[in-house]
Amino acid sequence: MSNQSAVHQWRGVIEEYRPLLDIPDGTPAISLGEGGTPLVHSEWLSGLTGGEVWLKIEGNNPTGSFKDRGMTAAISVAVFEGAKACVCASTGNTSASMAAYAAKAGLTPIVLVPEGKIAPSKLAQALVHGAKVIQVRGNFDDCLKLSRGLADTYPVALVNSVNPVRLEGQKTAAFEVVDRLGDAPDYHLMPIGNAGNMSAYWLGYQQYAASGRATKKPVMRAFQAEGAAPLVLGHPVDYPETKATAIRIGNPASWKLAETARDESGGRFAALSDQRILAAQAELARRDGVFVEPASAAGVAGMLSELEAGESYAGATVVITVTGHGLKDTGTALEFFGDIPHVVIDSEIESAAAAAGL
Ligand SMILES: *Cc1c(COP(=O)(O)O)cnc(C)c1O
Repeated sequence: MSNQSAVHQWRGVIEEYRPLLDIPDGTPAISLGEGGTPLVHSEWLSGLTGGEVWLKIEGNNPTGSFKDRGMTAAISVAVFEGAKACVCASTGNTSASMAAYAAKAGLTPIVLVPEGKIAPSKLAQALVHGAKVIQVRGNFDDCLKLSRGLADTYPVALVNSVNPVRLEGQKTAAFEVVDRLGDAPDYHLMPIGNAGNMSAYWLGYQQYAASGRATKKPVMRAFQAEGAAPLVLGHPVDYPETKATAIRIGNPASWKLAETARDESGGRFAALSDQRILAAQAELARRDGVFVEPASAAGVAGMLSELEAGESYAGATVVITVTGHGLKDTGTALEFFGDIPHVVIDSEIESAAAAAGL
């Protein structure tokens, strides 16, 4: 049988983009086939804006969020450097991703999460991949302090996005956008929490503009939840609160990098109520067929609230990153949905038709 295939098989972000990544020569590629995610045209948002709006669907990554792009890079470099264990603080998705890539690499994953504040599916992911999951009485920011402390003192690799290798992996999402559209978009909208991802996109867009692969760079707009909006307020928030747990962060590690991305791109940060974020999550699922977790809907919610405020995207090309899969947090989605319809019939065509309203 021939190995030749007419269709290109995606090899994961390290093998696809290795010459463009600042990682040591000879780094192995510990990959689960991450990246290469769909850029889906949104008829709904394009119609609303009179622009061309595209969704970068990061929930299609192997563990269901964009974190896999950074994790393939961080774990690969950790293996290259001889690590036997790795540690991260997490609101859920980083731990799910780290645990999977550590399992693949044969490293011991150690996860620090805020007690009771992570979605059960994400906890399940970390556990099934064999992570030591330690719940901390405190928030994400406390967990990150502990992780840094452990990595400073003990032989474990820190793979949070304060590790610059994470951003090297995550910037490939910007490469994919440009490779697909043929140029950078005019605007890029996304959720922001610890601020690594926005910083990584900006790295990627800058690199492609510098090398001539793109003729321009997008205006970057990033959205927080009102109860966890340090970047909007301009100061850390001691007790961040939001149902969008993936962006429940009071003191973003990549604060300065994200501010630079905002300023250099002529962009901005804004905050949204949980109600608005959850409404956008539901509407995106119903109109575009794309189910994302609550935090992931912040970019869409941001666009809707800007339109309400009179902002125009007419004639512009816009990419909105939706960061993680809806199946990550069905609890919050069902809670927002309210009463789950409970229709029970006898097994008869007439009853089924009547119940379906046919
Ligand atoms: C991590 C995460 C974010 C926030 O990204 P940062 O790099 O921390 O700003 C947003 N959405 C989801 C689903 C995430 O997992």
